Amino acid sequence: NSDKIKQKMEDRIKEKGLENEVKVVMTGCFGLCESGPNVVVYPEGVFYSHVKLSDVDEIVDEHLLKGRIVKRLLFKEAVEENVIKSVNEVDFYKKQTRVALRNCGIIDPENIDEYIAYDGYQALAKALTKMTRDEVIQVVKDSGLRGRGGAGFPTGLKWDFTKKADGDKKYVVCNADEGDPGAFMDRSILEGDPHSILEAMTIAGYAIGSDQGFVYIRAEYPIAVKRLQIAINQAREYGLLGENILNSGFNFDIELRLGAGAFVCGEETALIESIEGKRGMPRNKPPFPANEGLWGKPTLINNVETYANIPVIFQRGVDWFRSIGTEKSPGTKVFALGGKIENTGLVEIPMGTTLRDIIYGIGGGIPKGKEFKAVQTGGPSGGCIPKKYLDTPVDYESLTKLGSIMGSGGMIVMDEDNCMVDIARFFLDFTVDESCGKCTACRIGTRRMLEILEKITSGKGEPGDIEKLEELANNIKDSALCGLGQTAPNPVISTLKYFRDEYEAHVYEKR
Ligand code: SF4
Repeated sequence: NSDKIKQKMEDRIKEKGLENEVKVVMTGCFGLCESGPNVVVYPEGVFYSHVKLSDVDEIVDEHLLKGRIVKRLLFKEAVEENVIKSVNEVDFYKKQTRVALRNCGIIDPENIDEYIAYDGYQALAKALTKMTRDEVIQVVKDSGLRGRGGAGFPTGLKWDFTKKADGDKKYVVCNADEGDPGAFMDRSILEGDPHSILEAMTIAGYAIGSDQGFVYIRAEYPIAVKRLQIAINQAREYGLLGENILNSGFNFDIELRLGAGAFVCGEETALIESIEGKRGMPRNKPPFPANEGLWGKPTLINNVETYANIPVIFQRGVDWFRSIGTEKSPGTKVFALGGKIENTGLVEIPMGTTLRDIIYGIGGGIPKGKEFKAVQTGGPSGGCIPKKYLDTPVDYESLTKLGSIMGSGGMIVMDEDNCMVDIARFFLDFTVDESCGKCTACRIGTRRMLEILEKITSGKGEPGDIEKLEELANNIKDSALCGLGQTAPNPVISTLKYFRDEYEAHVYEKR
């Protein structure tokens, strides 16, 4: 639909003789999914939402030609007491800090010149021409950046381990196998700002001593795949990928590898197996990929959002980065906000922002005046957090303390109408389907848990079922081989902890 709107707008602009003054640019994700298609008119930043093909002529004729804003198309928050707010002044954006998403919705992702105009590739130039490999790693360490893929491992330390590992060949991998249901953070970054990932991976390649990178991306993301390939071709053409980058003597190239959409391939060792052309099944750890990864060689794996932070850390400095977020979790985190919430979409907040500020301040609260009940962070590997913890700051430690995890950034809001046992069943159903079957605890254990949950939710639960479910959940958590199985029981464990009464109501009151 956006393609058609763009085409029609270009045609109308031409018809009215404005083609030398106005340029229509297709950007990446703008964040506010629920209000799309969006059109922003610069330089004023006037923000039109829910634009239809039939609205295009009016925007061109009234706004572009006569300077009269089309009020009926303004985003709901853009008009307040007859004052028209620009896109940066509406609450949804004003309360965010866009670091990883800094260029998304602003630049044309298929045009390298626009990325360069927004300081793109300056960090790479700085690293290659002015810094040693150790200095580059020290900057990443000092920034305090932690892996945004879920576990929060210090990124600089990972880079250092891989640099120090013995190996005649080393690899840099970007994990773009985003698989949580409802999560689209990585996809949006790749669609909106693909060069930032290529730049970061090249810096990483220089730092650890690698000449080859791979982006492992699911084939279900065709626009991201297309834009990444365009970006790779452009970077090669500009001498920013390939041999002797920026005449520094450093060689590095990046290739895409398409995944078939298995959730387990987001686990780094399963991802490695898949790139090697094998079935995507996790390996035992140790050895960790930093020592023995792709084809047994030291391999650095970071996820998309982690890489997206790298160029800007080099451009603006460690102190700037550490001034955002908390001491232990500097920077920001991108979340895909969904479920029972007014403003569904992509949000980026400083670490330490409370759940309340995200859900009510940015998300606009719960629709139809309903009561908030819980929020699920971390997707199927995470947990449900109840209302009494709404003022919890979002950071790795605080979420773990509540029995949930940061995960890669899925955030699903539930209201008073949601049955929490059913929510747990939904997520477990997903992980049962996605289990690779390598270890018994996950392959058989999660299936038995699902059977009990189905029994309970269909009103056939018996005394003892809840305890059996709890015991199984704790055993699987302790004995599964990889992160998928170890975290699969989290939705059950957290709902049992905070909403046990709902399980009991199903079993004892047959609700
Ligand atoms: Fe496979 Fe599950 Fe075992 Fe992971 S925990 S290796 S997904 S069976």
